[in-house]
Amino acid sequence: MIIAGGGPTGAMLAAELRLHGVRVLVLEKEPEPTPHFRILSLHIRSIELMAMRGLLDRFLERGRKRPVTGVFAGIPKPAPAELDSAHAYMLGMRRRDIDSLLEEHAIALGAQVRRGCEVIALEQDDDGVTVGLADGEQLRARYLVGCDGARSTVRKLLGVAFPGEPARTETLMGEMEVGIPAEEIAVHLAEGRKRNKRLSLRPFGDGVYSVVVPLPDVTDRAEPPTLEDFREHLRIVAGTDFGVHSPRWMSRFGDATRLAERYRVGRVLLAGDAAHIHPPAGGQGLNLGVQDAFNLGWKLAAQVSGRAPATLLDTYQAERHPVAEDVLENTRVQMELLSPEPGPQAVHRLLTALMDIDEVNRRLVEQIAAIDIRYDFGEGPDLVGRRLRDIELKDGPLYEHTHRGRGLLLDRTGRLRNDGWSDRVDLITDSTAAIDVPALLLRPDGHIAWIGEDQQDLETRLARWFGEPVAL
Ligand SMILES: Cc1cc2nc3c(=O)[nH]c(=O)nc-3n(C[C@H](O)[C@H](O)[C@H](O)COP(=O)(O)OP(=O)(O)OC[C@H]3O[C@@H](n4cnc5c(N)ncnc54)[C@H](O)[C@@H]3O)c2cc1C
Repeated sequence: MIIAGGGPTGAMLAAELRLHGVRVLVLEKEPEPTPHFRILSLHIRSIELMAMRGLLDRFLERGRKRPVTGVFAGIPKPAPAELDSAHAYMLGMRRRDIDSLLEEHAIALGAQVRRGCEVIALEQDDDGVTVGLADGEQLRARYLVGCDGARSTVRKLLGVAFPGEPARTETLMGEMEVGIPAEEIAVHLAEGRKRNKRLSLRPFGDGVYSVVVPLPDVTDRAEPPTLEDFREHLRIVAGTDFGVHSPRWMSRFGDATRLAERYRVGRVLLAGDAAHIHPPAGGQGLNLGVQDAFNLGWKLAAQVSGRAPATLLDTYQAERHPVAEDVLENTRVQMELLSPEPGPQAVHRLLTALMDIDEVNRRLVEQIAAIDIRYDFGEGPDLVGRRLRDIELKDGPLYEHTHRGRGLLLDRTGRLRNDGWSDRVDLITDSTAAIDVPALLLRPDGHIAWIGEDQQDLETRLARWFGEPVAL
């Protein structure tokens, strides 16, 4: 298996495939890891995924827990009461720490990562994919996954359409020190925000601020901005450059919003920013990519092993494309709410008031946190298709039992069996399990595939998700 791109999506996918013994080669074009000082937020579902694979302690060591507030268009409302998760917080982390932890995890599981390798060509046939590198080398694999980011070469080589809207706004973002006292910052910021709501300066401690400055036009330039760019545009929006100096990092981003028409063409698939781009409102892109990888890994591994039910791999697009559509839609809404025009500002005020209603606040927060997702598995109780939160079992938390990325049959009745699938699906019999149903079947990505107590019914579902039984 070849993965083009060693960002967070590629690294998570490599690790998931290794859990199932698939040989994985990650090709990353950058010769060295990018230093990326930027702080990103992991949302609840991503934090749960780290817990499910035994990585959470390492993430907590390098991250800072924050309450789940201000996630939708920056509207500062308290987190809804009792969010349905054992990990109901956000985790602010340096992007380079997220990258390195995921890469270390993939390598520890046996993935091979080759840096300085740029994928520039691909050709597929019935048996596999030939991948061409910039230095002329050719490599062969049974499948290729393009996790090569927003400007994905793999997506372009496949000719997959990427419909959506081009950037209408461009924004500078960076971390730097500010040369005037906090009280003066507050005054200038308030003035500037009257002109443009996208302006923001947030302190990180030690005199360092996260600085976000809207630009008047879209340049669509790829290279990072200079400190002088920041000063010039701060003066335009706020009337002062705040004395900014000593930048830690600086970047620019647009609000282009696009979604790949297909996530799979034969033996080549797309995941992460290669499949979808949108403005960073709500901080969802990395989370979405890592969750794509979590959905795809076990399915692709089953396909490679020859055990996958015929339609399993296609459920990747069927499940993840609508999730990306929803994320794109909510970022469109958020960008609209940040517009300084009187109409959007009136809607902003209305939504701010409506978010005092717990149900409204909860719905928006659960969407950004990605804990509201329900995949369509056909008819069945509402729980089927949803993820199961971490719960206490008699011998510790459920997520402690999911580190190996296998399916899990959680049975309160003591009557059900996983015979024929025990090489792929674990069985936990626990009459004390805190679930309101007799038994449930979890897929390796933690989504509930079945609820019930009938053995025959269970076996139909086991075959649907895990393939035919084998005599062990
Ligand atoms: C200002 C800003 C703030 C953001 N804040 C957040 C946030 O708070 N939370 C959040 O979830 N998301 C956030 N995002 C989005 C997030 O950074 C991306 O969604 C995420 O990095 C996508 O991960 P990825 O692995 O899919 O792609 P990338 O991180 O882009 O990784 C792709 C990798 O592929 C490599 N590559 C590219 N082409 C090739 C090739 N031809 N051959 C081999 N390798 C190749 C690249 O070098 C790169 O390492 C933010 C984005 C921006 C711009």
